[in-house]
Amino acid sequence: MVTTGGVLGSFRLDGRVALVTGGGRGIGQALAVALAEAGADVALLGRSHPAETAARVQALGRRALVVTTDLATAGPEDLAASVDAVVGGLGRLDVLVNNAGMIRRSDALAHSPRDWAAVLRVDLDAVFHLCQAAGRVMVAQGHGRIVNIASMLSYHGGVRVPSYTAAKHGVVGITKALANEWAGAGVNVNALAPGYIATDQTAVLREDPDREREIRERIPAGRWGRPEDLMGAVVFLASDAARYVHGAVLAVDGGWLAR
Ligand code: NAP
Repeated sequence: MVTTGGVLGSFRLDGRVALVTGGGRGIGQALAVALAEAGADVALLGRSHPAETAARVQALGRRALVVTTDLATAGPEDLAASVDAVVGGLGRLDVLVNNAGMIRRSDALAHSPRDWAAVLRVDLDAVFHLCQAAGRVMVAQGHGRIVNIASMLSYHGGVRVPSYTAAKHGVVGITKALANEWAGAGVNVNALAPGYIATDQTAVLREDPDREREIRERIPAGRWGRPEDLMGAVVFLASDAARYVHGAVLAVDGGWLAR
């Protein structure tokens, strides 16, 4: 686990084990592959089998472990059991990436209790309980990295997504609260805030030509992000290179927030 190779070596994750939620597609797939490229074995936690991602991790010569858990129904004990399964299956846990997420779009006046509860459960409750379960392992071993996936809606109110905005603001709150508690124990808790990334989650925005153009024209980089644009940032936050970074929210947004 000793880092060699100077500053570039400090970005490597050889011998580390990372757990990524929702790694089967979209951003999570890119993050899982990035961590494997950097040297980590990867556990993939989700409700569906991430066959393609697991194959890509293995093709890089790393181990992949699939842990089947539906974050919409799993309680804290189930999530603790999932973390135990990772430690049991891959021998340790060094990195947790809380990526899985969902969104429900409707006007606030029409936002149903069911949508509110579902989004908060997956996007906020599960994030905290996985942090807690992983944190128990990481604090005890005196080393760990947690990367929570935030959003531009951790900063802004958004349009017709009140539960998502509430959850993503909460993700930043959890990140800072846990960073305060665990920095002294060698556990770094940070967030990564993607801008507007072309995935299934944003397909509905890109299918509306007016909305697509409105968003694209507001991005200083002049294009939607791609999941691959986040790969460097997650490796950084998961690595020794980020050893003194605690409670930060790293925006990878093509300049959206600077506008
Ligand atoms: P996506 O393509 O819709 O993928 C969502 C992932 O979350 C999938 O792997 C999905 O698994 C998993 N997931 C959803 N509900 C789940 C549940 N109940 N249990 C387990 N896994 C569940 O979305 P994405 O764009 O890659 O988003 C990934 C993360 O980035 C989310 O937290 C999202 O809020 C955040 N984000 C996205 C953007 C963007 O512009 N795309 C911007 C900022 C932040 P299944 O395949 O089984 O459905």
